[in-house]
Amino acid sequence: MKIFKGMSAASGMALGPVSLFSSEEKSHIPHYTVDSGDIEKEIYRADSSFKEAQSEMRTMIKNARESFDRDAADIFHAHLTILEDAEIHKKVYHSILNQKVNAESALETVFAEYIDKYSNLEGHFAELIHDFIDTRNRILEKLGSKSAQALCPAEKIRPVIVVADRLIPSLVLDLAAEDVLAFVSKQGGLTNHATILARSLGVPIVLGVDVGTISCGTILAVDGSLGKVIVDPDAKTTDYYNRKIESLKKKKLVCVAKKNFPTATNTGKKITLKINISTPEESERAEALGHDGIGLLRTEFLFTQRNYAPTEEEQYAMYKKILDSTRGKPVSARLLDIGADKVPLFLELPPNTDPCMGLRGSFAVETFPDLYLTQIKALLRANTGNNLRVLYPMISDTNDIQPFRKLMNEAKLKLKRAKVPFNPVKIPEGVMIETPAAVMSSSEIFQEVDFVNIGTNDLLQYALAVSRNTSMTEKRYHILHPALMKYIEIIVKEARKAKKEVCLCGEVSSFEEFYPLLIAAGLKSFSVTPSKFDDIKCSIMHIGNETPGDLLKDYYKLHTREEIDKFFSKFV
Ligand code: PEP
Ligand code: MG
Repeated sequence: MKIFKGMSAASGMALGPVSLFSSEEKSHIPHYTVDSGDIEKEIYRADSSFKEAQSEMRTMIKNARESFDRDAADIFHAHLTILEDAEIHKKVYHSILNQKVNAESALETVFAEYIDKYSNLEGHFAELIHDFIDTRNRILEKLGSKSAQALCPAEKIRPVIVVADRLIPSLVLDLAAEDVLAFVSKQGGLTNHATILARSLGVPIVLGVDVGTISCGTILAVDGSLGKVIVDPDAKTTDYYNRKIESLKKKKLVCVAKKNFPTATNTGKKITLKINISTPEESERAEALGHDGIGLLRTEFLFTQRNYAPTEEEQYAMYKKILDSTRGKPVSARLLDIGADKVPLFLELPPNTDPCMGLRGSFAVETFPDLYLTQIKALLRANTGNNLRVLYPMISDTNDIQPFRKLMNEAKLKLKRAKVPFNPVKIPEGVMIETPAAVMSSSEIFQEVDFVNIGTNDLLQYALAVSRNTSMTEKRYHILHPALMKYIEIIVKEARKAKKEVCLCGEVSSFEEFYPLLIAAGLKSFSVTPSKFDDIKCSIMHIGNETPGDLLKDYYKLHTREEIDKFFSKFV
């Protein structure tokens, strides 16, 4: 028995045989020259493979949207953009024509240019390399060259634990949920596209494991919560994991039976469970979940995937669909958040804007007042069902609220003067607390607003000086770092004093095992990604008296990442 300690990328447990995969494809790509008479045929081959890959990608986007996997849909969208890039097509055809080489060879040369270009970049851009590699592999597959390959002869044994040096999106996509018990890899980070896709299969994932010595068919126990992989577990360990896996299955069965019950802990504490969405389609499909409202409507999708600003009418139609789809349940619509990771293409940011920061909060409103005015007017008009709440992004203190509020009043005045009908009620106002300054100003902020949302994705990066887009530091910091927990406690305390709602809506809310601690800290409202809704609700329903006495005290005694992982593993 040998134990590897890696990094957890998805919780859960699995026990089963290994199937090894390799994403090294180079030696399998055929290279040859073509006669002048065959050039046309070769260009046609390349063109058909682009078209086939595009059509496959469009189906994948549609399927991802239908199963409200927004993360996967976004990744596929990025791949489709590469597949449709006219410049890439042109370069491939030129290479076939000028070098007289086969389509595979031309593709490899052209894509190598882009892969090299991004190879020295960090964070979000570094991930582009894998998007290019994966898109190239997809096209090569259409030409008959397989990319990721199973290295085990007994490939037919299913389900298996997939072990690879690096997970790549096409490998993950080729494997259906029923085929895979867990993923283990050496490279990769929490936000890599392949990891995000693997997570949507709902199985444990452990990264950072030296997989070199693991062989085909070996039995592994994978502990996704502890980030632990046990090779050839002994009888006692096997028995322990078998019992754990059985108990997890039973928990889920109880939850299926209680699907229509309101969300509450086993001791009867009522919890508000909302969802984070971006599009009307997501909202419509999510109605079947029985959620308590939309805790975060990210409106950026309307702005980022186009070359011009959306009109008031376009926005009105979208917001109206979303507001109507919840049948009266509250919808917290966040005004455009111009972040480093989400800058609309049509906006020219002022010179010297820091690319890592984008243009956040009140700076954005003051720089682009008309953009926000149009958005607010569209929202006010769409609020016929009286369920709209507005959320101001990335504020640091009460001063930051004023420019947003000024525009709210101006928008109402403009609509009134133009005699455009809208609901004149006072719209509940909330803010995103996602900077340390906002946490420390939360007492004053609660005097100004009706509710707050905690955005842990940004709060964590600004608290720890760790970019949310890089995987380099993930090994060192826990996503629920004790400092973040202390911030949450401060906000909850101020919310109680002010008797106002505080809803946690960052990625932390996607991890079932954090809920006993978050609820112990006094949080009663959460907003989660729709694909995690059922699992989270199930975990909340199992929180009961067995929860150890003073959880928070125990938690703050921990120092290392390993201690924190172990602490949370008992809540899986
Ligand atoms: C957050 O920062 O936690 C958040 C919910 O906002 P976004 O992820 O859209 O920046
Ligand atoms: Mg944020």
